[in-house]
Amino acid sequence: MTQPADPRLDFRSDTRTVPDARMRAAMTAAEVGDDVYGDDPTVALLEARVADLLGTEDALLTPTGTMSNLLAALAAAGSHGPRGAPLLVVGEDTHMAFLEADGLRQFAGIELLPVPQRPDGLPDPDAVAAVLAAGGGRPAVVCLENTSMMRSGNALDAAATRALADLAHRYGAHVHLDGARLANAAVALGVPPAELAAPVDSVAFSVSKGLGAPVGGLLCGTHAYVARAREVRSALGGSMHQSGVIAAPALVALDRLPELAADHATAAALAAGFATVPGAGLLRPPRPTNMVMARVAGLTPEECARRLAGHGVRVLPLPNGFVRFAVHRAHDMIGVRAAVDALAAVAATAPVARTTSEGAPAGRGLTTTAWTEES
Ligand SMILES: *Cc1c(COP(=O)(O)O)cnc(C)c1O
Repeated sequence: MTQPADPRLDFRSDTRTVPDARMRAAMTAAEVGDDVYGDDPTVALLEARVADLLGTEDALLTPTGTMSNLLAALAAAGSHGPRGAPLLVVGEDTHMAFLEADGLRQFAGIELLPVPQRPDGLPDPDAVAAVLAAGGGRPAVVCLENTSMMRSGNALDAAATRALADLAHRYGAHVHLDGARLANAAVALGVPPAELAAPVDSVAFSVSKGLGAPVGGLLCGTHAYVARAREVRSALGGSMHQSGVIAAPALVALDRLPELAADHATAAALAAGFATVPGAGLLRPPRPTNMVMARVAGLTPEECARRLAGHGVRVLPLPNGFVRFAVHRAHDMIGVRAAVDALAAVAATAPVARTTSEGAPAGRGLTTTAWTEES
């Protein structure tokens, strides 16, 4: 096994936040019932507060964001109905496409239909329209992701969300938003989360990413939709009894939503530091949040991550050629400086890639990647 990482230098994921004293005290003091009987007051309070935050009629606590997304698909389009499993249209570079496709196939009988995404993370509207038009009236669910995982955590604004949702609605589709980091998007854009959720039919929200609660996803939508999801949750074995003990720290987490701005400032400092490192490249989204994606000329993401770990800095290598730094409340400027120094050291000792015979720019130090030209 690997060495335990220094939390300030562990940038692998914002799920790695740990519950602090206030959260643990809230767990100890939580009033509980049995949520399967519908009488856990702390769960009820959390569900009401998240529904209020997102402007939906109702919300359902689930163990994970993954289960929220699975329930979202199953509750959306009556995959038990006579017309067969719904078409599930997702961006090809999303958490659902990368990490949830197997579960959706095995447990919902749904094959995902991945479509390309724009640089801001929005599924390409023409591609979505083409898939829906070819669907021949099959029930369909169109999924968005905000923030966009593989677009360096870009925050999608309400106008882009609405444009795609309106298009999908014209085809009668249900629109689901994987909003595991919707709180980050809202803080970065300076709008209430409800504004970003308004155009869609259901939202999967997470309290265990940057908000810092130990456990919890919430699936939000209309009363009828959430009631269906509640039945499916039970069938999947996701109903929980004294779940007030996990709802209590989640309520603390909700109070901390504005504090995500500090994470975004830390991530901006990290990006600014990396931009000064010769040989390092950055994926810069139009509306950054708490992610920084970097690469070093001549190194694969896996090798880059391995070498950074040699300096005590932990990151996640991604299939898009970059390593991910996910900033959260445990991070500070000391860790930022250490991470910039580590990336500089890795870049300084990276194999000098040579220009290929075709003259491709493989050997030049990547300068800061201006990938957002078109947006
Ligand atoms: C983390 C994440 C999920 C899944 O949440 P878990 O609670 O880890 O199951 C889903 N979608 C996105 C975009 C995520 O970042």
